[in-house]
Amino acid sequence: MKTPKIAKTRAELKAAIAEANPGSLGFVPTMGALHSGHGSLFKAAREENEVVVISVFVNELQFNDATDYANYPRQLEADVQLAAEAGVDIVFAPEAEEIYHAGLPLVRLNSGALGDMYEGASRPGHFDGMLAVVAKLLHLADPRQGQYRAYFGQKDAQQLALIRRMVADLDYPVQLRSVPIVRSEKGLALSSRNALLSEEEKEAALVLHRSIQLIAGRAARNEPLYVEDAIGMCQMAPLVELDYFVVVNPDTLQELAFNCQDTPFTGEGLILVAAKVGKVRLIDNQPI
Ligand code: AMP
Repeated sequence: MKTPKIAKTRAELKAAIAEANPGSLGFVPTMGALHSGHGSLFKAAREENEVVVISVFVNELQFNDATDYANYPRQLEADVQLAAEAGVDIVFAPEAEEIYHAGLPLVRLNSGALGDMYEGASRPGHFDGMLAVVAKLLHLADPRQGQYRAYFGQKDAQQLALIRRMVADLDYPVQLRSVPIVRSEKGLALSSRNALLSEEEKEAALVLHRSIQLIAGRAARNEPLYVEDAIGMCQMAPLVELDYFVVVNPDTLQELAFNCQDTPFTGEGLILVAAKVGKVRLIDNQPI
C-alpha cells in the first residue's frame, strides 16, 4: 500500500500534480472523517483516472451553526490511512488561511432559487458557502491538461444538483460523476455526522430509510404514493424531529404535487428527507 502525498498548501498541491503529469485526474472534495461512502467515490475515481486527488477541508463558510462547525469530527491521520487503502495519490489538507488567503471572500456565488429550498431553507447560507469552496477547489485541483473529472455523492442530492448547475453556468472544464449512496447494513446512509449519534439515536435514525422504502416500493409498483404515511412514520418515531419529506423532480427539485397524492405514480422522482435525530441533522434520499 502506497502512502499518499500530503499537500498542505496550494503550491504543494500544484507541484504534486505537475510532478505526476497525469493524462487523467480524478478529484474528490471531502470534509474528512472519511467512511466507506467517501471510499466509494475514491474507488470510482481510481477506476477511471491515472491520478486521484482528494481534499480534506472543513469549510467554515458552509456551516450556519457555529456549534455544528466546532463539533464536526476531524481525524486527518485516520483519513490519510483510509485514503491510502483506497489508492489515493494526493491528499490536499489545507488550513483555512490557505484556502481563504485573502480573508473571507468578498465576492460570493449565489446558489439562487435551487439553493433556497429544503436544506437551504433550514441552513441559510449553506449552499452559497459550499459553492464558494467547491468553486475554488475545482480550480486548485485542475490538472490543466488531459481529462479532469470530479466525483460527488448522490447522498447530498441538492448539493449535487447545484454543483451541476455551477459547472454548467460557469463553464468549468471538468466532467462530473455521481456515485450512489452507501448505507450501513441496517440501511442508515453513511455520514461523518453519524459518529455524533448515540446507539439509541442510530436505531431511531433508521426510520428515515424505512419511510423512504415505503414510498419507493409504492412508486415501483406504480401505486399512489400517499406521502403522508411516510411523514407520519417519521413524526411518530422517538428522538426524530422531521424537517421535510418530499417527492421532487430530480432536475429542478420542484415538488411533484399530483404524483404524491392519490393518483398512480408514473415517471421519475426523487424522495428527499431531512430530520434532526437528537442534536444531529441527517439527510437521505432515493430516486424513484
Ligand atoms: P462530505 O465529507 O460530507 O462533504 O462528503 C464528501 C463527498 O462524499 C460528497 O460528495 C458526499 O455526497 C459524498 N458522500 C458522503 N456520504 C456518502 C455516502 N454515504 N454515500 C455516497 N457518497 C457519500
